[in-house]
Amino acid sequence: MTGEWIRPLICPVCARPLGDYGQVWRCPAGHSFDVAREGYANLLRRHKKLPETVGDTPEMLRARREFLARGFYEPLSEVINEIVVTAVATLPAPVIVDMGCGEGYYLRRLAARLAGQPTALFGVDVAKTAVRLAAKGGGGHGRYLVADVNEPLPFADQSVHVLLNLFAPRHPAEFARLLAPGGLLLIVIPAPDHLQSLRDRFVLMGIQPEKGAHITAQFAGLFVAQPAQTVSFPLQLDAFSLSWLIQMMPGARHLTPPQQEAIAQTPGMETVASFVVMRMMRDE
Ligand SMILES: [Zn+2]
Repeated sequence: MTGEWIRPLICPVCARPLGDYGQVWRCPAGHSFDVAREGYANLLRRHKKLPETVGDTPEMLRARREFLARGFYEPLSEVINEIVVTAVATLPAPVIVDMGCGEGYYLRRLAARLAGQPTALFGVDVAKTAVRLAAKGGGGHGRYLVADVNEPLPFADQSVHVLLNLFAPRHPAEFARLLAPGGLLLIVIPAPDHLQSLRDRFVLMGIQPEKGAHITAQFAGLFVAQPAQTVSFPLQLDAFSLSWLIQMMPGARHLTPPQQEAIAQTPGMETVASFVVMRMMRDE
């Protein structure tokens, strides 16, 4: 076996610990998972065929990568990094998992911020295309895997110190199982007024105002919620970034021709990004 980093991972078939054998991860029962050239492994249960609509489409991923590469959401990434850095400050070798990592923007920036500290970083997403992109761009800083948040997750009980869940689906019972006592769950969702002027202008779908309360209720009893924090900052969008931003939005595939035309005719605009950052602590 080559690495200690794999310690938190368990076999998705039999839940025994996985070992790192270079090009393959394998459990003592002989279940093995090939590591792709880009450096990720597929830990979905073998027989499960996911519908095509699960996870982000390649178009959404490409738009997100272009948009994020321009630094528009850097202020949010900075807030996330500060919270995580503080949370792991006293831990000798923290395990950090980004559950729903997408193309890996936030985990990449966190890895850069934690460079030089012995941390184990994992990026998990159900969309293989996303995980492949994340692993390719990860520069060897993290380990990436394909797994479904609706299934038992391939991490051992209490093996994770920080769990990031950024604009991604959640599984309260599984999150509680894999977080260590005192561990931090950091959830980020769009605030109800996120991109309000843009939504109004192009008649785009709104955000459920009760989403934050719903999540707090979902996790009550399993986690102790800290006061939520709102992070808002202006965005100066040119025509390209406006189009990418709209393609990143969940309703993008249902835009009508008049909406598409209105967007295409817009040279740019200013709007405000607004997020709710929720911190939940696993009971000691
Ligand atoms: Zn196994």
